[in-house]
Amino acid sequence: MSTFQPGQATVFHAASEIAQLTRAWRKLARPVVLVPTMGALHAGHLSLVTQAKRIPGALVVVSIFVNPTQFGPSEDLAAYPRTLETDVEKLRAIGADAVFAPAAEEMYPHGPRTMITPGPLGDILEGASRPGHFAGMLTIVHKLMQLSHCTHAIFGEKDYQQLLLVQQMVTDLNLDVQVIGSAIVRETDGLALSSRNAYLSTEQRELALTLSAALTAGAYHAGQGPEAVLAAAQAVLEAQPSIAVDYLELRGAQLGDVDPRGANRLLVAARIGSTRLLDNVGIDFGSEEVTGQPRPS
Ligand code: AMP
Repeated sequence: MSTFQPGQATVFHAASEIAQLTRAWRKLARPVVLVPTMGALHAGHLSLVTQAKRIPGALVVVSIFVNPTQFGPSEDLAAYPRTLETDVEKLRAIGADAVFAPAAEEMYPHGPRTMITPGPLGDILEGASRPGHFAGMLTIVHKLMQLSHCTHAIFGEKDYQQLLLVQQMVTDLNLDVQVIGSAIVRETDGLALSSRNAYLSTEQRELALTLSAALTAGAYHAGQGPEAVLAAAQAVLEAQPSIAVDYLELRGAQLGDVDPRGANRLLVAARIGSTRLLDNVGIDFGSEEVTGQPRPS
């Protein structure tokens, strides 16, 4: 059993041990905030932890688990960066309380068996490109929520569809957890931070900037309506034919139909070499008249 010290990012590998700690914390009527990650932590992940620490009296539990059930057979499960030691150092530096880093056998002692079905929201965008991904993601998030006895769970808008699906699961399965979304953290040049950025060569990283540039171009045309937003983003992507775009879609904020007078989301997924990257941005058409004039978002 690890000796727990608040703020010291104490590492737990056993499900029973993290469950024991968090159950005891809940008995004191104090919140437990779960921050699920796959590790290889960067400033985007750390911003979620910082947000978690703002909840008064909270025990902040960061899970680090490269979840096999959310990877397809031809995806990067084996290659995914695993940097537990430096991750724990980063978490200790910002005062996370506990780190739950189980082995795959600890989470799936019987292999993948009972799974959560995402429903139609899981079939579009990422779900269409990565069959089974969201069933694996929701299953592990549910298990982590149960084991951590969390009152709150924080997810990045970077994985926007994931955030909505977790919110939907909490509603549909009557889970007593408050799901909190957190803004995307970017490099100064606009690239959204991602553990998979580590796969990019210098030239590929330059090319990767096209994704955020396309979204920015789209957002800049919000004043001209949905078609102009999509066309502007599309033009930026098409100027770089070596980028294999999986999808570029404008959808309503809940990922349904576009709301021509309200909040929407412009989402992109693309492959640069063998690295698949995601990004998205909010597009608000507001209630004002469409003037034909571009406006910065
Ligand atoms: P991952 O380790 O990629 O599974 O991500 C763990 C959590 O961190 C998810 O909720 C992600 O949405 C979030 N996250 C990843 N990258 C960023 C980012 N650049 N900004 C904000 N949150 C992020």
